Amino acid sequence: MSRLAQTHGLTDVQREILSTVRDFVDKEIIPVATELEHRDEYPQDIVDGLKELGLFGLMIPEEYGGLGESLLTYALCVEEIARGWMSVSGIINTHFIVAYMLKQHGTQEQKDHFLPRMAAGDIRGAFSMSEPALGSDVSAISSKAVKDGEEYVLNGQKMWLTNGGTSSLVAVLVKSDEGHPEGTAPHKSMTTFLVEKEPGFGEVRPGLTIPGKIDKMGYKGVDTTELVMDGLRVPADRVLGGVTGRGFYQMMDGVEVGRVNVAARGCGVAQRAFELGVQYAQQRRTFGKQIAQHQAIQFKLAEMATKVEAAHAMMVNAARKKDSGERNDLEAGMAKYLASEYCKEVVEDAFRIHGGYGFSKEYEIERLYREAPMLLIGEGTAEIQKMIIGRRLLEEYRFQG
Ligand SMILES: Cc1cc2nc3c(=O)[nH]c(=O)nc-3n(C[C@H](O)[C@H](O)[C@H](O)COP(=O)(O)OP(=O)(O)OC[C@H]3O[C@@H](n4cnc5c(N)ncnc54)[C@H](O)[C@@H]3O)c2cc1C
Repeated sequence: MSRLAQTHGLTDVQREILSTVRDFVDKEIIPVATELEHRDEYPQDIVDGLKELGLFGLMIPEEYGGLGESLLTYALCVEEIARGWMSVSGIINTHFIVAYMLKQHGTQEQKDHFLPRMAAGDIRGAFSMSEPALGSDVSAISSKAVKDGEEYVLNGQKMWLTNGGTSSLVAVLVKSDEGHPEGTAPHKSMTTFLVEKEPGFGEVRPGLTIPGKIDKMGYKGVDTTELVMDGLRVPADRVLGGVTGRGFYQMMDGVEVGRVNVAARGCGVAQRAFELGVQYAQQRRTFGKQIAQHQAIQFKLAEMATKVEAAHAMMVNAARKKDSGERNDLEAGMAKYLASEYCKEVVEDAFRIHGGYGFSKEYEIERLYREAPMLLIGEGTAEIQKMIIGRRLLEEYRFQG
């Protein structure tokens, strides 16, 4: 059932992939999502199913065993998955960002070593920029790497790693002093390390501890953790791209495609909220008629559907721009900002349509209501998107007087 959020100009292969994913979401995710979410249970069967569908390798080039698909295909799959359960899209998102960073910036040896097993879903990625004292202000990172022979020694604490426990490869951004004299701009003295580890909690590798899951308001099922480095030794060939000082740019490149991904999640969650709202509005009766027949409710549905369409169009535009090889930071920032704000509003309207029942854990909208706010924060808050958008607008519309 979907007249909204159609995408024109897709290839047969894209349409086939999307129809397979939608089918999987309807049969394997939606029926179990709310129950698993309430138990904060990791959806192992769903993850196994995604592995079988090849989704962990969707954008990894075919030469490494992936499907070699575009960002648009990926984003549309994410939209479908988030429509079923946003946490599942979180499980593939950090993996996708790390694979993308490896593809774009990794040495040949790093690509050969990681990408085939990432495509198969046997190695799963997490990425780590945030620390307890910072999220938006990445330049303030205080975790450090110091060179010691052919290795680097890493110390510091990281925060908010999605898939921190279940992953076996973490891309970690730290300050590195080697080759960067005192006074070097912060973004030029950061390095991304590819840190391999055992999945799980506790000391997962000498010098590396994943303390446990952070208890969250929503976005449950997927693990979000801290990461503590205490004398963690990483070989020099695990510097992403083989050269220090490029980490900030590599991470920002990853986050940019991640923003399209978060926009896609906002679209998926909003679509589901609309579906739930429009169904409930035709079941519930007040004052002798379906509530859908009250103009106030119809207006809500109209506003919700318009927001779903607008967010989808902007998300598709941002993905297509990146796929064409053009810079897309403006479009990705706008899409992420709009889709996450609209998602929160559409979910709130669907919640209101449900009346008191929306407050009951028996109704799916209760889960969506707790999930939507995460999208306002992840991959950069609304304020950070507006800073990016504003800066770019001033570049494009420079006053010539
Ligand atoms: C569930 C979850 C999963 C996450 N997963 C990951 C992950 O996998 N990897 C990772 O590295 N991080 C992850 N994060 C962290 C996330 O990226 C940060 O929370 C986010 O970037 C915001 O940073 P902060 O929480 O430190 O807020 P702050 O940066 O402290 O911001 C607080 C408030 O101030 C505003 N603000 C900050 N600076 C400015 C400014 N210059 N102008 C105007 N307003 C400003 C912000 O918009 C916000 O409203 C995750 C977070 C959550 C909640």
